[in-house]
This record gives sequence, C-alpha cells and structure tokens, in this order.
Amino acid sequence: METVRTISDMKLLRQRLAEPVGFVPTMGFLHEGHLSLIRRARSENRHVIVSIFVNPTQFGPEEDFDSYPRDTERDLTLLKQEKADVVFMPEPEKIYPPGACTWVEVEGLTEMLEGISRPGHFRGVATVVTKLFNIIEPTYAYFGQKDAQQARVIRKMAEDLFMNLEIIVCPTIREPDGLAMSSRNFYLKGKERKAALILYKSLQLAQSLWNRGERHAGKIRGEIVSLIESEPLARIGYVSVADTETLQEIEEEIEYEALLSMAVKVGKPRLLDSIVLSGSA
Ligand code: AMP
Repeated sequence: METVRTISDMKLLRQRLAEPVGFVPTMGFLHEGHLSLIRRARSENRHVIVSIFVNPTQFGPEEDFDSYPRDTERDLTLLKQEKADVVFMPEPEKIYPPGACTWVEVEGLTEMLEGISRPGHFRGVATVVTKLFNIIEPTYAYFGQKDAQQARVIRKMAEDLFMNLEIIVCPTIREPDGLAMSSRNFYLKGKERKAALILYKSLQLAQSLWNRGERHAGKIRGEIVSLIESEPLARIGYVSVADTETLQEIEEEIEYEALLSMAVKVGKPRLLDSIVLSGSA
C-alpha cells in the first residue's frame, strides 16, 4: 500500500494505475461503514484509492473540526488489511492553497435538511469531492447511504457537471443493536449510547407503519416525532419524509417511495439516520 501526501505525486501515481480505479473518500477514524465501501470498491476495481482528509470547509465555525476524532495509525493498519492500493492524505493548505476562490454549489438539494442548520456544509463537501475527483480521476466513487442527502447531492453534481465517473451508493452499516456506525458515535457517553438507539427504533417504527399500509407522510412524521420526544436525552434537529430525488418534503400521501431522514442530537453528537420507504406492503 502506498501512502501519498502531495497532489503531484497522486497524479503521477494515478497514471500508472490500470482501469477501473475505485475511490472511497473519507475523513478517517475508520469503522465498518467505511470498510464496507472499501470492500465493495475492492471487489469491483483493479485498484482502490482511499482518501483521508478532514475537510475544513464543510465544518461551520461552531462545529467540531478541531476535535473531530483522528487516528491515522489505526486507519493505515485497517486499510492495509483491506488491501487498499493507495491512501491519499493531503494537507489542507494544498487542497485550499492561498488565493483559491472556486467553489461548487449544488442549488436546491442543499437548501433543506442538513443545509438548514449547516449553511455552507454542502458547498464544502461538493468542492472537496470535485477537487478529489479531479486529482484521482476514479472510474467509480463510493459513498454511503448513511449520509443520504450527501449521496444525493454528489450524484446530482456529477450528473450536472458531466463528470466522467460513476457514483455508487452503498447501504448503511449498523452496530449489532442497530445504531448506524459513525465516527461521531465516539462522542456518545454513558447513557447516551443507549438513548441513541431511538434513531434506529424510529426507522423500525416507520417501516412497520409503511408495511401496515400507512402512506400519509404527515402521519408517519408525527409518529416518529412523538417517539423521539419520548427519549429524554434526544433533541430533534428534523424529521423529514421527502421525495427521494428532489428531497422536497411530502405533505400528503406518498405515491411511490419516500426518504425518511432525521437528525437527532444525543449529548454532544448530532446523529443522522435514514431509510427509504418503498415497495408494496
Ligand atoms: P466520513 O468519513 O464520515 O466522511 O464518511 C466517508 C464515507 O463513508 C461517506 O460516503 C459516508 O456516507 C460513508 N459512511 C459513513 N458511515 C457509514 C455507515 N455506517 N455505513 C455505510 N457508509 C457509511
């Protein structure tokens, strides 16, 4: 496995790699969720490149950029075990050199859900992913459904900008008790870990309402809100039942399918989870 730290070395190395090249962008502190993307990339490509880059521009001024968990040594051991070919770990000053003033804005899709409480977040995500795509030129790039809005935004960006690659979205990996794996679960202390299960319980409730034939978005949203409110350690950011393509909130009957997504603060971390409600009961 090669560890590459500069953009010029990464571009040079890329020229030597045979197609297809799979790329998994991460912010490190790797867990089974990340590893599932890497395994999928491994199974579909000649070469696999993983980036570890805690992207400063996607964090708001009050967010946890400085304290975001990092453990590069452990990450590199895991990546070796997964047989990644290349790890790209650029310095922030190289990705955003002085004077860089070009940003990628995906309109509409970024203005709801996470976009409301995290202004500028998706501008940071779209910009860094574009830069990484331009440096690495992957054939396939792998993202998690865990961050459902992010996956939708990246797919739309790649389509709108005629990017020469395919975006693959992979299922959410969970702890044995259902909590979606996330680097930020590390912040959960004491009773918060159990309280965080309220997100998974909400998804289960939504799925069972759907299976029983409930199609009214407002009814489903209301039931989920009541359930989360019954957990004293949980604070709702939003609970959304939205169109899977436009992410517009659905107010009445769901016609075909819907994305149920939520952000819930439990102690320090703001946790995200989601499920697509689809198919007939
Ligand atoms: P991050 O390091 O948080 O930026 O995540 C890097 C990639 O891993 C993103 O595409 C995430 O959506 C994905 N990811 C994070 N957690 C999970 C999970 N539990 N299951 C599947 N993919 C995940």
